[in-house]
Amino acid sequence: MKKALPGQEEVFIFERLGNIHVWDFFAEEIVEAVNKNLKNGSENTYLENLVYRKMTEWMDRYLKEGVTDDFLNDLNAALHEIRYSKYILALDILPSESVFPKNGYVAKYDKIPSPEAYAADDFSKLLTSGQLKRLKRCQLDGCEKFFLGPPQARWCSKSCGSKFRVREKRRRDSLR
Ligand SMILES: [Zn+2]
Repeated sequence: MKKALPGQEEVFIFERLGNIHVWDFFAEEIVEAVNKNLKNGSENTYLENLVYRKMTEWMDRYLKEGVTDDFLNDLNAALHEIRYSKYILALDILPSESVFPKNGYVAKYDKIPSPEAYAADDFSKLLTSGQLKRLKRCQLDGCEKFFLGPPQARWCSKSCGSKFRVREKRRRDSLR
């Protein structure tokens, strides 16, 4: 089994047909896949489309509401379907500051989870690992892509920023 990344506090594992897999994930890749689905959802299978649509909803809610009690209640309800079992992980997989091994939680994926549960599981991993700290949504109408950026960022790219400024200028000029 693969080793956890340095500084990683949690290891996410899923089990299918008796094999266990460490679930590697990077917020950048997930954000990119969600954006691609926003634009070209029809290129994905029906199920992928549903998963990404649900992910879009979670990310959007997270940005609008923050992590409120309601938000967590809904997330936990959506996660409920996924069965987890507990594993004790060797120190070479999940290093521990003490000499004792840590807990790991293993999702049982023998029964394929519903798209809703799958999306909630993916989203919750991003949430608890802190990878959503830099999540933003482009404020240009018609773009609305998600991206990871510094706190003050408003647009996903330079070109969206300049389009926004051009539109703003036009809007101001038309009011004159
Ligand atoms: Zn944009």
